Amino acid sequence: MTGPPVMVRAGLFRDGDAPVLLASRCTRCGQVLFPRADGCTYCSAEAPEPVELAGPGTLWSWTAVTAPPPGYRGEVPFGVGVVELPEGVRIIGRLTESDPAALTAGQQMELRVVPLHTDDEGNDVVTYAFAPVASS
Ligand SMILES: [Zn+2]
Repeated sequence: MTGPPVMVRAGLFRDGDAPVLLASRCTRCGQVLFPRADGCTYCSAEAPEPVELAGPGTLWSWTAVTAPPPGYRGEVPFGVGVVELPEGVRIIGRLTESDPAALTAGQQMELRVVPLHTDDEGNDVVTYAFAPVASS
């Protein structure tokens, strides 16, 4: 018997009908920080305020990973890309699309929570990813 899905790392995102990334915004310089941090990496102010990033964002660059990185237990190939969110922060993340030819610079990408692998206890480990917004 398996439990509920396990996040690949606690504190990165919140799952739900509309998943969000858990970030911080510096109260001095306004920079958005992801993952959350105790201090601003731009101006070193302390105690940035928590913010949630819902997307969608804009695809900047991307590639496909065809060989599993050390310790990675999921499937290959998988897509990785840089997505700029409306808050101005660029996030490197997994893409649901693994074929680079199927993606276009500047296209809109929405946040998803996707299965990554099954851990030793049989739990589904999930992570955040960006998926192309379906064109209407
Ligand atoms: Zn700052």
